[in-house]
Amino acid sequence: MEYRKLGSSGLQVSALSLGSWLTFGKLISDAVAEELMITAYEAGINFFDNAEIYARGKSEIVMGKILKKQNWDRSSYLVSSKVFFGLGDAKPNQRGLSRKHIVEACHGALQRLQVEYLDLFFCHRPDKNTPIIETVWSMHNLIQQGKILYWGTSEWDASEIMEAHLVAAQNHLIGPVVEQPQYNMFTREKLEKEFLHLFRHHGLGTTIWSPLASGILSGKYLNGFPDDTRLGAEGLEWLKDKWHRDDLLDKTRKLKIIADRLQTTLPKLSLAWCLKNPNVSTVILGASKVSQLQENLGALDTQTIVSDAILQEINLILGNTPIQPEY
Ligand code: NDP
Repeated sequence: MEYRKLGSSGLQVSALSLGSWLTFGKLISDAVAEELMITAYEAGINFFDNAEIYARGKSEIVMGKILKKQNWDRSSYLVSSKVFFGLGDAKPNQRGLSRKHIVEACHGALQRLQVEYLDLFFCHRPDKNTPIIETVWSMHNLIQQGKILYWGTSEWDASEIMEAHLVAAQNHLIGPVVEQPQYNMFTREKLEKEFLHLFRHHGLGTTIWSPLASGILSGKYLNGFPDDTRLGAEGLEWLKDKWHRDDLLDKTRKLKIIADRLQTTLPKLSLAWCLKNPNVSTVILGASKVSQLQENLGALDTQTIVSDAILQEINLILGNTPIQPEY
């Protein structure tokens, strides 16, 4: 396993990590979830990603039981939660980034995950209705209390992250060290353009999500629609509409030709492409089967055969290279 610094923090995170969205407590059995975590841990993965909203708290419960049963040394892994969406209940104060919800969400996650502290706690989305200083103070206090070690944001834009940094600096508080954005071959603007200033001048780390665009970039939708996949799952029609598009499938078909030529697989090439970006601290993998995780772990080796010439060839197919700002 390769380990990378989480931005300018002192934390080391495995270049590949494991997430639980739509899988733990939902589309896969608890037994498969356990096998996934064991396979990941034994391969050197040290970061498990979670959130209060995933399966409305059930994902954290499943992960917590596995962590307890495996009894791995607590210092050997990182576990996260995210606050914003609550458990899906819609009463006032049961979601958002107020001090009340942040503190209650943290306590809830600690209970469900059965751990004494969270290594990373993310603000899952920006909250336009809470003053940023209240959110920054709440996160700082949780760190002071030893309930979380680092905090970050997810799907915030650059100006919101910058504001959090400024507010923290002005008040001598601990600011966010990490952002969790979507990043894959079809979604590039934030990582490759918008955040460049934050990477250069604020040492922002990133834990990137949906590296395979929910499975489209695995290539498995190229010849018909396979059974038993995420994009065919009931209730996820919105996700199918988002990704199962002719233009994206056409590009995926062309990318597969490159993967074949390199004698690798498309999932490995797609993940290696994410890993090649030095501003990615960790690529969070999702998997519904242990065989997928085993294949995806091979992306670490595939990195070495993705040359600059190959990256250029990929760019030509994708046609979405962000235009870099001039410095
Ligand atoms: P991916 O885009 O990699 O999608 C993972 C899914 O793709 C798997 O569950 C599986 O679905 C399919 N798949 C994976 N590997 C293969 C393979 N080798 N061959 C064929 N199919 C494969 O990642 P996720 O969307 O799951 O995101 C990863 C993590 O990021 C999440 O678990 C979560 O922790 C985090 N996340 C964070 C968000 C945020 O807002 N902060 C939002 C979303 C995710 P199937 O077999 O069912 O088709």
